[in-house]
Amino acid sequence: MHAPAHFPGVLGHEEIQGLLRDALSRGRLHHALILAGPRGVGKATLARGLACALTCEVSPAVGCGACTSCRRILRGQHPDHASLAPESPGAPIKADSARLFGLDRAHAPFEARSHLAVIDPADALNHASANALLKAIEEPRAGVHFVLVVHSLARLLDTLKSRCLVVNPGVLSADHTRRVVTQALADQPPNPPPDANEIDLAIQLSGGAPGVALEFLRDGNLSLWLGLLSACVEASDAGPRGIFAGERAPLWQHWQRAALSMEIVDPVGAPKAGATVTKIPARARSTKKTKASAKKTTSSSSSKKASSKKASAKQQRMAARRLADVWLIHLRSQLAGGRGLFDPPGGHPNAAPRLARQVQTLLRFRDRISANLNVRMSVEQTLLDLGR
Ligand SMILES: [Zn+2]
Repeated sequence: MHAPAHFPGVLGHEEIQGLLRDALSRGRLHHALILAGPRGVGKATLARGLACALTCEVSPAVGCGACTSCRRILRGQHPDHASLAPESPGAPIKADSARLFGLDRAHAPFEARSHLAVIDPADALNHASANALLKAIEEPRAGVHFVLVVHSLARLLDTLKSRCLVVNPGVLSADHTRRVVTQALADQPPNPPPDANEIDLAIQLSGGAPGVALEFLRDGNLSLWLGLLSACVEASDAGPRGIFAGERAPLWQHWQRAALSMEIVDPVGAPKAGATVTKIPARARSTKKTKASAKKTTSSSSSKKASSKKASAKQQRMAARRLADVWLIHLRSQLAGGRGLFDPPGGHPNAAPRLARQVQTLLRFRDRISANLNVRMSVEQTLLDLGR
């Protein structure tokens, strides 16, 4: 009766929380859920909140957030809140890892009455690793539940989808986005701390995805992305002449800087939006990942003057994904009658049908980024398509 209305650490997604609470209190939670929704809206946070609700004895079906069990889950230290992720962001989940993970669930729950196994991002399952998990997901032990976190349902194997209940967390309200961002910044202040204007812009850019807003703020370089977007818009309007203008053209200089900046950013295969957003400080991660190259193990300032360096394919893929996100926000704002993130070149906004076509082109581009061997070529092709 006095139970809190929401899962620990979860803001927004009221309808989904209500459905899950209801299912939990009737002991009817589906054994395999797919949380499918935009990047950064808090899917992983929602899964963690659900794990609290599943295991909490103080406030069953909701989670109190304060008992030993809840606190361990929120810290990522409870054996009955397990997760499977790729070895590195952007890589596929290996079949062996998937098989082992599935086998381990045959011994769960370990301490609590229930066990939540999270696969995040499940977009990283390829044919082999998805198949390796099928049996575990199809016939889990009593009390064992799976949650597959995905950005795009299209990439999931049909046989896997058919065994799961799909739930779609959407974007948050501006108010909830701000509260999640504020809390996360208070928990882990970036260095240097962002000012109020930067926070406002990041929230606006995020379109209701606090994880995306936090990426912008931790990156500390919003203007880098606005500059790249502006150069891209100009180049695609100019056509081949603007796109194939050589490495020294502003477009590709911007691109190079943006891609290199991904080195120091928390790489986001699946942003962990919510109160406990980032686990490893960007600098520590950067140092660890590039230990083989002394030149690279420097602080963030080095990436700014490093435009002579080549961005790796992984950095380019991450940059392409973020460029697509920023551009989509720009277009959607224009579709809604706004000016977008900046005034269109020449002051002429595109007509709605063309904007809608461009949104489709960008969505296709973003969907295929991980499959593209040559990111630069796919960026060029997309710029050509967008200019038509
Ligand atoms: Zn609790």
